[in-house]
Amino acid sequence: MTNRLQWEVFVSAQIPVVTNDIAPGTSGMKWSPISSTLISGKRDAVLVDTAITIDQNQKLVDWIAASGKNLTTIYATHGHGDHFFGVNTIQKKFPKARFMATREVIAVMQKQASAPVVNGYWKPRFPGQIDSTLVVADELKGGVMELEGEQLVSVPLGHTDTDNTTCLHARSIGLVVAGDSAYNDVHLHLGESNAETRKAWIAALDTIESLKPTAVVAGHKRAGAVDTPNIIEETRKYIRDFDRIAANTQTASELYNQMLAIYPERVNPAVLWLSARAIKPAS
Ligand SMILES: [Zn+2]
Repeated sequence: MTNRLQWEVFVSAQIPVVTNDIAPGTSGMKWSPISSTLISGKRDAVLVDTAITIDQNQKLVDWIAASGKNLTTIYATHGHGDHFFGVNTIQKKFPKARFMATREVIAVMQKQASAPVVNGYWKPRFPGQIDSTLVVADELKGGVMELEGEQLVSVPLGHTDTDNTTCLHARSIGLVVAGDSAYNDVHLHLGESNAETRKAWIAALDTIESLKPTAVVAGHKRAGAVDTPNIIEETRKYIRDFDRIAANTQTASELYNQMLAIYPERVNPAVLWLSARAIKPAS
């Protein structure tokens, strides 16, 4: 009899970001909520993605420990620091947990963990909160991990909200842990893509859909939101709305306001502002 796996999601709450580039009519910026997924068998477990700060990751460690499972592996879906800077904190509690990612993800990770990016981007935004030890993953050769006899497959997705992204597919339970290829009721980070590379992002969402998942966990989700496959189409629609409005507006403010009119309730409009600012003058 097959050993059914289970999964649970921990959402790290929004935390303040130190920055001057804030959206019109707001007084500050927060980072989007970040999700980490624990896939577990009877005894062992695999964690997919961490959070950013030491404090966030300590809370994540406490949640993993409360599961009573033996953490064997941490897997990173993509190379953005906000999804792997917590590995050292987690390995202090679970020293035998290996940290794995694909070779392509590791290439992005190495840049994110380099001194120019850590000192120029991450530390100014989260002063005193980033772990001084940033661990880069070992290569997941062959793209498949085993968890108590069940396969967890790393599926390459190419460019989504950054380069060289992946999702993790737990076929036996119909689960896709999508990383930042899908967003769940949170504004998308479009600042690293353009109209051309966003076609690759749409294709990545088509790839996830072709896996026919029954659940999809987004890398950034509203706490409590259901991990439904509907977020695949919701993410595609958001990208298409953004590109359509971007083609018909002159300034970041116009683009921002017209997107907000369609998406008044999504979490973290500050990210929409940065996406608009990446391609338009402020006003
Ligand atoms: Zn992210």
